[in-house]
Order: sequence, then C-alpha cells, then structure tokens
Amino acid sequence: MPSSHSIQCRCGQLRGLLTATRPSNHCICYCTDCQAFARHLGAHDALDKQGGTEIIQAPAANLTFSQGVDTLACLRLTDTGMLRWYTTCCQTPIGNTLANWRVSFVGLIHTCLRAEGQSLDTSFGPVTMRVSVKSAIGQEKPVSSGLLDGIAKTIAMIVRARISGAYRRSPFFDPRNGTPVAHPKVLTSDELQAAKRMA
Ligand SMILES: [Zn+2]
Ligand SMILES: [Zn+2]
Repeated sequence: MPSSHSIQCRCGQLRGLLTATRPSNHCICYCTDCQAFARHLGAHDALDKQGGTEIIQAPAANLTFSQGVDTLACLRLTDTGMLRWYTTCCQTPIGNTLANWRVSFVGLIHTCLRAEGQSLDTSFGPVTMRVSVKSAIGQEKPVSSGLLDGIAKTIAMIVRARISGAYRRSPFFDPRNGTPVAHPKVLTSDELQAAKRMA
C-alpha cells in the first residue's frame, strides 16, 4: 500500500503530495452542496451518476503543495458554508475545509487524486462511508454507511492536530494568523440557485 499519494489539478499547474495515506476516510457524499459546488465549476466529472462526490478526508497538515499554490481559489456556497477550494487554471475541485483553521482536516475531491493513474482504493482502501444518500439522484438510493466511524476518525484527526499544533501546517491557511490563502468568495443567491437547479 503506497504511503503517499500525488495531488494534481487537471492541467498540472497545481501539484502536491498527501504525505501519508493514513489516517483517512474514503467516502462518497451525495449532499446537494457538494453537487452545487461541482456544477458551479462546470466540473461534471466530479460527480458520479447519482451526484456523489468521492472524497478522501485526511489531516490538512499531511498535504503539501509543491507548485501552483497561486492557482488556488476558494468559494463558499453561503457566508457560513465550508471553504471549497479549486484551481483557477482549469476549475478542478481540490477539497473542502472548515473556515476555522483550528478545526483542521481536508476533504480532498477525487478530481485532484487521479494523477499518474493512482488508484484511490489502493492508496486509501475501499469506500467505507456513504453520506447524505437521500439527496442522491435517481429512485434507487445508495445505502448509507460508515457515518459514525467516519465522524469518529475525523474528530480524532482534528483533536490530534489541535493538540500538536499541526493545524498550523495546513496549506490552505496562513500559518501566522489562520487567514485563508485565497479570499473566500461567497456565491450570490442567483449563482447558488443556478448551481442547485442544474441537477
Ligand atoms: Zn490546473
Ligand atoms: Zn457533501
């Protein structure tokens, strides 16, 4: 099993490495917010047939970018929503973080984890968590799974990063003061409605 996994936007300007493949949660989120994020970017390849986004949750401090950090941009669906990171070079969804850098983890979106044909299952094990299945597209909903285990693992990541101070090593925030490295742009209500309507 590989101990690290490459990160890359579609065009290759942004590159980086997840320096550890454990701890992590391999999950699929069917929520309408994740769907709206992908649709707003026009990143339809981020979503599976049922509108699910395949995500690897990992400690943000395990992520380093080696080039192209200036291509990172950040949007929020609402002014209290998650920070949703993507690249301006090629509109590749990269990942989601909370706005508070002290609550530190990243949900990396599979669209930036396909470099060099690396398999997510090989690096992170099979999908163990399927969430927000009620908003999946289609009559036959996927079966919800792994939520409690997944949340417990994520909380453990957050607590460890908080106690050790590793939350300061998130590449999405200025290590001096926790300001996001790109200014979060909140969607207008028209933009949000459009992104949600395109289902
Ligand atoms: Zn790019
Ligand atoms: Zn979601």
